Amino acid sequence: MLEELLFRILFISIYAAFAGIRIYYRRKSRKSGPPVAAKQRGTGQIGGKAGIVLSIGILGMLTSVILYLLIPPQIQWFPLPLPSMVRWAGVILGFTILPFLRWIHRTLGLYYSPVLQIKKEHTLVTTGPYSRIRHPMYTIFMLFILSTMLITANLLVAIFAIIVIITFFPISKKEEQMLLDQFGKKYKDYMKRAGRFLPRIRQPESNRAHPGRRDYPPSS
Ligand code: SAH
Repeated sequence: MLEELLFRILFISIYAAFAGIRIYYRRKSRKSGPPVAAKQRGTGQIGGKAGIVLSIGILGMLTSVILYLLIPPQIQWFPLPLPSMVRWAGVILGFTILPFLRWIHRTLGLYYSPVLQIKKEHTLVTTGPYSRIRHPMYTIFMLFILSTMLITANLLVAIFAIIVIITFFPISKKEEQMLLDQFGKKYKDYMKRAGRFLPRIRQPESNRAHPGRRDYPPSS
């Protein structure tokens, strides 16, 4: 009982910190960012089927999370029987991702936007977390959702959480098409070096150092 209360308090703390970081950088990118989107390729908004599914998923997840927090723990409401250890792992995961979220926002800077768009004088970011992963922010979102799933141990939350996680695949695809249209070969090459949500284990042929040779690529 006490543990359940602790889970709820820790969950709210993680949520508040996550939202705080997001709100801070979202404001910053709006305030000092390039004034208007020079080009709004694609639909801007994450439209289409993926956009609808994402909206349903987020709405469902938020509602079930709020219900989870409001309904007293004595009432077994769609419980997901997860061992306590697993729920604690969710707490650790939730706190661990926070500095990464900040790092990603700081690196993407003014090019961040909640809708898919190309801003004025948009350049391709390939440093920091973006050097190995093309969508580190989405990776963090997915881990955050996973942590929510583990901490709350609620079946309804889990169902909507999985729906949201799945939508990151078509959304990132759409975003990549927009970036390919904008940056062409530069983005194509970047796709070969960096993984979509996780770093590539095998580097492409052209990037791999030749065995026994330290000066690759050759200077001559
Ligand atoms: N999908 C990224 C960024 C999410 S914010 C991530 O998960 O980290 C969405 C905006 O970021 C899009 O409008 C797109 O224009 C921009 N963006 C995505 N990748 C970028 C990159 N490598 N360099 C510059 N802008 C990028």
